[in-house]
Amino acid sequence: MLTEELMQGAQKYLMDTYTRYPLALARGQGTRVYDVEGREYLDFLAGVAVNVLGHCHPKVTQALQQQALRLVHTSNLFYTEPQVKLARTLADHSFADKVFFSNSGAEANEAAIKLARRWAHTKDGAGRFEIVSMLNSFHGRTLATLTATGQEKVQQGFEPLPEGFPHVPFNDVDALASAVSAKTAAVLVEPVQGEGGVRVATPAFLQACRDITKERGALLIFDEVQTGIGRTGRLFAYEHFGVIPDIMTLAKGLGCGMPIGACLATDEVATVFTPGSHGSTLGGNPLACAAALAVLEVILEDMDILGHCTEMGEYFMKGLKDLQGRCPVITDVQGLGLMIGIEVTMDARELVHDLRKRGILINATSERKLRFVPPLIVTHAEIDRVVTTLGDVIEARR
Ligand SMILES: *Cc1c(COP(=O)(O)O)cnc(C)c1O
Repeated sequence: MLTEELMQGAQKYLMDTYTRYPLALARGQGTRVYDVEGREYLDFLAGVAVNVLGHCHPKVTQALQQQALRLVHTSNLFYTEPQVKLARTLADHSFADKVFFSNSGAEANEAAIKLARRWAHTKDGAGRFEIVSMLNSFHGRTLATLTATGQEKVQQGFEPLPEGFPHVPFNDVDALASAVSAKTAAVLVEPVQGEGGVRVATPAFLQACRDITKERGALLIFDEVQTGIGRTGRLFAYEHFGVIPDIMTLAKGLGCGMPIGACLATDEVATVFTPGSHGSTLGGNPLACAAALAVLEVILEDMDILGHCTEMGEYFMKGLKDLQGRCPVITDVQGLGLMIGIEVTMDARELVHDLRKRGILINATSERKLRFVPPLIVTHAEIDRVVTTLGDVIEARR
């Protein structure tokens, strides 16, 4: 089917929850995707920070093919090798000891919120239940996670929202100190905010999150759904800050496109989940776990991917800052590794549109903010092309 037909079909048959670009994609390879008419695009959105190894990485595709021939799904009433191996690999390479698998980021956060509440109830009784999160955060679209999300636009029309989700301004240590009390079960924070516009936490703020929660008997949850799995140049973003949470959630990059999420925790915290306290029929199925295991094997065995991500991230940031020097419409450039955002004084969505017409895919997280989250295998030449073309489209609109 051609783009036009697919757009009509979507309008007729799909619930209207997304503003889609007028673009129908048919295949992808590495950093490139191709539309149904065969046009090529350089993909600096990567399925919204998902395709960390690019599209159809040969090792991930091979793992999927082999597992699809063997066993796709069993439910969690049985043991499977890919799930145990994946949990062990995640535990071996993080602070965590134990893992719960879900199908998405929102579900991973839902598990984290339930785990924190159950831990707090077990320790201190029902009075300790609050999950303190940040303004402009994003944690998902289930009722609990959209309530934790610090953006009113995702909550409108879904009231009454669950109780016990106060918000504080990101990077504001004083506000955090006043919000965390004997009622707090956990503080939930993204080390680098993504969907709310790319903003990097200050090391002092994350350290304060750790110190204040510890002092007042609460847990610290890092939402690494977007920052995890190499995106920032380390396997997990918390490694940059030297701050260790009690719980961490993953999803986007984990399956490189296969739906899988994970909630990781220390042994001490994880023990409050017992048979029946949480579950997911499809969560951690062998196919999704085989893909995630292949992703981790590529990243861990080819250590250069993380080094490459750091180098490309610095090169990209420098390119964008140089461009900012020439284009005063760019008012801010920030990021960590290959998770980069810029703020502009013009309509960011028009710039996204202009770039797409020139064969480059990115997105706008708001009217004034653009986000760049390319696959970690991106090259100097591809970054040059994006920076140059961005300069051109800004110039053309002035
Ligand atoms: C995308 C995202 C989520 C939600 O993940 P879904 O898979 O869409 O449910 C949660 N937290 C953060 C930080 C995210 O970027």
